[in-house]
Amino acid sequence: MIRRVVSALGAVVLFTSAATAQTVPTPQQAFGFEIGQDRKLADWNQLTAYYEKIAETSQRVRVDTLGKTTKGRPFVMLIITSPANQARLSELRDIQGKLADPRKISDDTELRHLLDQGRTVVMITHSIHATEVGGSQMAARLVWRLATSDEPRIKEILDNVIFLDIPSLNPDGLDWVVDWYRQGVGTPLEGGPLPWLYQFYTGHDNNRDWYAFTQDETVLTVKAQNAWHPQIVHDIHQMGATSARIFFPPYIDPWEPNVDPHITSAVNQLGTWMAAEEEAAGNRGAVVSGQYDAFTPARAYMHYHAGARILSEAASVRIATPVDIAADQLGPSRGYDASKSSWNFPDPWPGGHWTLGDIVNYQETGALALLTNAARNRPYWLTNFYDIGKHAVEKWDRWPEAWVIPANQTNVTGVQYVLRILTLADVEVHKASASFTADGIQFPAGSWVVPMHQPYASFAQAMLEVQHYPDLRAYPGGPPLRPYDVTAQTLPYLMDVEAVAVDEPVTTALSDPIPVPDFAFTLPAALRGANAPRVAMYKSWQEPSTEGWTRWVFDKYGMTYDTLHDADVRKGGLASRYDVIVLQSQRAQSIRSGFRAAQVPPEYAGGLGEAGVAALHDFVEAGGRIVAVEQAVDFVKDLFDLQVTNAVDGLANQDFYIPGSILRLRVDPASDIGRGVDTESIAWFSGSSQAFDVNDDRVKVLAHYGTGDPLLSGWELGGSYVAGKPAIVEASVGKGSVVLFGFQPNYRGQSVATWPLLFNSLHR
Ligand SMILES: [Zn+2]
Repeated sequence: MIRRVVSALGAVVLFTSAATAQTVPTPQQAFGFEIGQDRKLADWNQLTAYYEKIAETSQRVRVDTLGKTTKGRPFVMLIITSPANQARLSELRDIQGKLADPRKISDDTELRHLLDQGRTVVMITHSIHATEVGGSQMAARLVWRLATSDEPRIKEILDNVIFLDIPSLNPDGLDWVVDWYRQGVGTPLEGGPLPWLYQFYTGHDNNRDWYAFTQDETVLTVKAQNAWHPQIVHDIHQMGATSARIFFPPYIDPWEPNVDPHITSAVNQLGTWMAAEEEAAGNRGAVVSGQYDAFTPARAYMHYHAGARILSEAASVRIATPVDIAADQLGPSRGYDASKSSWNFPDPWPGGHWTLGDIVNYQETGALALLTNAARNRPYWLTNFYDIGKHAVEKWDRWPEAWVIPANQTNVTGVQYVLRILTLADVEVHKASASFTADGIQFPAGSWVVPMHQPYASFAQAMLEVQHYPDLRAYPGGPPLRPYDVTAQTLPYLMDVEAVAVDEPVTTALSDPIPVPDFAFTLPAALRGANAPRVAMYKSWQEPSTEGWTRWVFDKYGMTYDTLHDADVRKGGLASRYDVIVLQSQRAQSIRSGFRAAQVPPEYAGGLGEAGVAALHDFVEAGGRIVAVEQAVDFVKDLFDLQVTNAVDGLANQDFYIPGSILRLRVDPASDIGRGVDTESIAWFSGSSQAFDVNDDRVKVLAHYGTGDPLLSGWELGGSYVAGKPAIVEASVGKGSVVLFGFQPNYRGQSVATWPLLFNSLHR
């Protein structure tokens, strides 16, 4: 029974039936505190138990366990919709699957029927960055509200939307952050930093995995997206404390050029609507069109799968501890000024007290605005979705007829990796049964063919083509406008794979689409068995994600190695235990000194300290080898007084700028590091990278950046500053040696092309 009560103020308050109210517990009843209460966080056990309880007691909510996280926790997705929709869920999913692929629809009558019967499918994903806790907490209140409320607006959502809620994209990190925070509450360390990566391998890079699909959480989510084809995916984040209170799209330029304009428009209208709903709810300080661009596919799987990807970023507190922001701390940001009104930031927040409860309120308002838009505009979302698939199947003019990945390539790892990426993304890849000719090129039997008349051709194109990032400046000839992330993802370069665009249709017989292949990783023989070098990875308590990504590669290859924390290094005697120690990219100051004592418990403070630095010095003098990458190069240079300088240090941005691009590399074929590697290779170069000037007899050069213009893909200003400069060098020190990588040989688990250089650096 539903009672309707009109309060004295005229607001309509609705009570659900007594039976429902008794059986679906509120978050307060389940956790013993209100969601968003200062200093209170629910952990993953509590949250999943609560969702199970809701699913038991509400016909609107179902919980699916999609699989396990990296560290074995359940990874869950809630399906929330009206009981009537729940009863015909598989039929509604089939409708969605047909609308996703126009080739499956026989005529206009069927299309009209599908558009009439289909529901808007929305996925919301929470707190992939585990310290951005608001989303993971807000989810519980949102689900409770959708499970119990009979407000007309909620009914409208439930009737018209199938809401797929992934209440944490990173349950491992959620538990680590919550445990750490609880230990600190009430002490001087409250709200302090977690001293390890909050995703086991990738840390903050876990939301840069939406095309490489390296992590279990990414794969589980993408499979759910492929099964359901959501028209909208909303990814909930938090940003710094002193800018706007919440960000929604439109994104700033540039957009990656293969994204359908229908998606850009959909993102623009939806983000603007969400900001308007914040304003209507009295939530001041919403900004649109600031800070975040839409270039890299690494953050936006749905932009290549006919869906709008909405990022939101609420201003943070100190985990769950409130902050006070003075008005004069609010200032200029990219695209707006947090202290001033502007078209995209009409109602500045004046400063003051800011709490987890505020974050949760803003995020819940945004999520409900998004769901309302999806429900109310269902015909628009479904038609738009169908049209995007139709554009792709008809093929864009800028795309070739097909991409061909020739058979019999030597780099099996790279080929398998590329095929895994394409097929996991639902791109149809076929095998040619016989040799064939296209554009005058002869391809062998067994070559893989990606015809571009298919729904997710845009993904294939974005992965396989060269990126020409636009030359964006503050003013003509002025400083570059930095990309939000990186500017290149060309897989054939990163993975050392040949892929050929052909403009002639491939007419030979093709297999059905191939299934998703596994990674094909085989550890080099020199790193296996009794003669393998004894390898250790240094793992700082200010752990950089570059170190985590390297562990991921080593683990995938099944390589044996030890992890060294500061205390392990300080103990010394390293030369008797190890042959080689790897220092991934990390600032020298961070390696030496780590956290201050006031930031973390004593066992996590102080970095290597003098004893640790001396132990590494002795290790090399006694015959060990250090392999140092990018920023860690500075630490090693100081340690041994190497006369190697960074040729691009101190250059102004408008003169030299390479913010995540692929350059040419020439490897010395006579060097140990060049064993089994093509002379012509690639280098992943970013703001952390270096090019060397060498003035030291102990140092020999193992590889140079390409001469002429070294750029292969992405954005580069002043390539001449690195052209022909040393990129990898080796120095003899005492009885040992150091190898210095100026660029990143393991870029986010993707640069298969340069993994052999990393492996070769580990043995002599
Ligand atoms: Zn984030």
